Amino acid sequence: MNSEVKVEVKRKHVNKFKGGYPLIFKEAIMNIDDLTEEGTIITLVDERNQFIGRGYYGKQNKGYGWVLTHKENEQLDAHFFEKKIRTALNKRKHFFTDSETTAFRVFNGEGDGIGGLTVDYFDGYYVISWYSEGIYTFNEEVIQSLKTLTDYKAIYEKKRFDTKGTSIDDDDFVCGERGEFPIIVKENGINFAIYLDEGAMVGVFLDQREVRKAIRDSYAKGKNVLNTFSYTGAFSVAAELGGAEKTTSVDLANRSLSKTIEQFSVNGIDYEAQDIIVMDVFNYFKYAVKKNLSFDLVILDPPSFARSKKYTFSAAKDYKNLLKEAIAITEKDGVIVASTNCSTFGIEKFKGFIETAFKERNEKYTILEEFSLPDDFRTAKEFQEGNYLKVVFIKKGKGQNRRR
Ligand code: SAH
Repeated sequence: MNSEVKVEVKRKHVNKFKGGYPLIFKEAIMNIDDLTEEGTIITLVDERNQFIGRGYYGKQNKGYGWVLTHKENEQLDAHFFEKKIRTALNKRKHFFTDSETTAFRVFNGEGDGIGGLTVDYFDGYYVISWYSEGIYTFNEEVIQSLKTLTDYKAIYEKKRFDTKGTSIDDDDFVCGERGEFPIIVKENGINFAIYLDEGAMVGVFLDQREVRKAIRDSYAKGKNVLNTFSYTGAFSVAAELGGAEKTTSVDLANRSLSKTIEQFSVNGIDYEAQDIIVMDVFNYFKYAVKKNLSFDLVILDPPSFARSKKYTFSAAKDYKNLLKEAIAITEKDGVIVASTNCSTFGIEKFKGFIETAFKERNEKYTILEEFSLPDDFRTAKEFQEGNYLKVVFIKKGKGQNRRR
């Protein structure tokens, strides 16, 4: 049983929580020090001891826990978790019947009513991500719900919190029939090799599904494509399937070479006709300038924060400069796909970086199209930070391209 603590919300934050804001944060709580044990059930009250909501204590980078209900008589028990997960599964019904897409998110944290918990689906395999020790104290309730509600081949889990170096044989397997990895999933007909037993990153970031489709269907044909921070090369695969003349994938991690070869191969693409380069992107930009290389389509999808041998990159501070480097090696009328998953700034600020970058390069630009999270990554309207993905397709040069 999880213990219970009552906490008082400071007066100036009461309306925020009454309005449905789900994240419990330090500055909002009078007696924050009463929270000591991960998984403690928290009852939030106002200064007159009136009930505001109930949630759990689970420390993660974002805050101290999440409000899960505003109903005073609703308990956070097995029934509660099953109800939330059932609702979430029902909202993804159309994904389950689409044979061209067999990988998607079935539960997206606070967007589906339980902050700190996500569940992804990969062709019969379910992958739970626990973002705090606190939410992990509900693992029996969550796993039992999935067993009851789904036809799983197997359930895997990712503990995205500090497990203080516990078990060494932890391959993330929970129950069912162990998979043989990679499994091959589909996304709008594209194949992806997925490994559920190799840590948090399984091979593809599902939230970019619509962006990959747009690149394949509308932007790649006949183009010379540069994919930076390419990871397993998922954008390069989409571009090549869309008829790109050639792709160049650049990532710092050694594993990216074999992983990218694999993703090309499972799609029947001759990887030897592609460039796959293990290099710091910032060095690659210098190299490209020196060699007079330029591209028709440049994809930028850096992590929010990264440190390499020579450089530190923070999206909030350095995205503008990253864009400037990209602009320098993009053809006139070429397209830059600027993507960020950084939750500390919104789309307006991101567009500000784009504006400044082009201005400082003395270049004109046109925004062609924008993307945010796809439908399966549901978000809470009261929690805009959860709507983190921002992708802008930018044409270098002014106005419509009139050449037909
Ligand atoms: N765009 C990818 C996901 C990128 S994940 C996709 O859609 O699948 C971020 C990647 O950036 C990681 O693979 C990491 O190795 C790489 N990375 C981080 N810093 C880098 C740097 N300075 N140069 C090149 N790659 C870098």
